[in-house]
Amino acid sequence: MDYKAFMIKYAEIGTKGKNRYVFEDVLCSRIKEHIDGLGDFAIRREYGRIYIEALADFDYEDVVNELKKVFGIVGICPIVVEEKVEFDAIRDKSIEYMKERYGNKELTFKVYTRRADKSFPMESMEVNSEVGHYILEQFPEYKVDVHNPDVMLTIEIRERIYIYSEIIKGAGGLPVGTNGKAMLLLSGGIDSPVAGYMISKRGVELEAVYFNAPPYTSERAKQKVIDLAKIVSGYSGPIKLHIVNFTDIQLAIYEKCPHDELTIIMRRYMMRIAEHLANNNGCHALITGESIGQVASQTMQSLYCTNEVCNIPVFRPCIGMDKQDIIDISEMIDTYETSILPYEDCCTIFVAKHPVTKPNLDIIKRSETKLDDVIEDLYNRAIETIEVVYVKNED
Ligand code: ATP
Ligand code: MG
Repeated sequence: MDYKAFMIKYAEIGTKGKNRYVFEDVLCSRIKEHIDGLGDFAIRREYGRIYIEALADFDYEDVVNELKKVFGIVGICPIVVEEKVEFDAIRDKSIEYMKERYGNKELTFKVYTRRADKSFPMESMEVNSEVGHYILEQFPEYKVDVHNPDVMLTIEIRERIYIYSEIIKGAGGLPVGTNGKAMLLLSGGIDSPVAGYMISKRGVELEAVYFNAPPYTSERAKQKVIDLAKIVSGYSGPIKLHIVNFTDIQLAIYEKCPHDELTIIMRRYMMRIAEHLANNNGCHALITGESIGQVASQTMQSLYCTNEVCNIPVFRPCIGMDKQDIIDISEMIDTYETSILPYEDCCTIFVAKHPVTKPNLDIIKRSETKLDDVIEDLYNRAIETIEVVYVKNED
């Protein structure tokens, strides 16, 4: 089929009243950024729809795959365009379309006409029955079913004619850039890239922070996190990734605090630093991949202790999900294969054999006072030595 254009359907942003134009503008910009490298396209807004028209040759699969990554799109309709706004042309193009798209197999269909151009001399119903009639004549295998057709042949009469029958499911959500920015705590695991994806899907721009512990963690572990950020940025747009050297803080905790509390204390320092970075970079929330009960540091009591240091909202979209559900999303968004690469993460090196599963906040706070002499310097040095990597998806 020779598709030259796509019609983009969006649901939720259609309901935002006056803000609708802002949302549509942002969605158009996001679409443009996603498909810019794939050809020459004109993107137009018209009557609550967005049309993407190819001005030169393009790879259909590549463009559809890229459009599937744009948050805010619920449906992608590949359309054929007929320039002549007259009935004979509509009829011929419809027949040509059915022939190429479905051939002579048995199916039920219905013609559905939308007449945006009211100066067109026929009523929608008339077009439906006339075109339907000609199709039946051409394809004896077809049957009409107005209630539950296999194929809904949609004809839109505008300043040109648009014909389509297929709606490819889009990513849904809201266009990135319509809901502020948040700081994702991105580890090399399965959960945090999924968490970033889920929040970004609601229109949120992402920055990310990774706590690195050289030489206990390798260059490859760091590269893995950069690679994960790159995959997530294929949906969320470019990500400013802050890489924090966390080694000295971890060593100090290891040296001075009870070993069964290491993970909780370490997680509290991660949250403090992440919040500091969020505040300095215009982010209004933190995002983590935590899920209740998944590991010792994610029991209700542990989450309570970790959360206690935060003053801004912490979003944990995986919180009520089973691991398999998180894995399913990571496979869908293509982070899974990278996440399971076996490079050690800073948390796994300093873990206790028997971490507390029900930490007590007062006891944790008391243990943290053992760091009083050193922590301010270490904290400041960690902030001062941050390495920033700007990550974007170039595929
Ligand atoms: P993930 O699969 O996301 O690594 P996890 O199951 O390994 O999660 P934890 O190691 O307890 O769980 O981490 C919980 C959350 O804390 C992670 O989802 C992530 O948001 C954050 N986190 C953990 N380690 C790091 C790190 N080294 N850098 C940045 N964030 C981290
Ligand atoms: Mg982890």
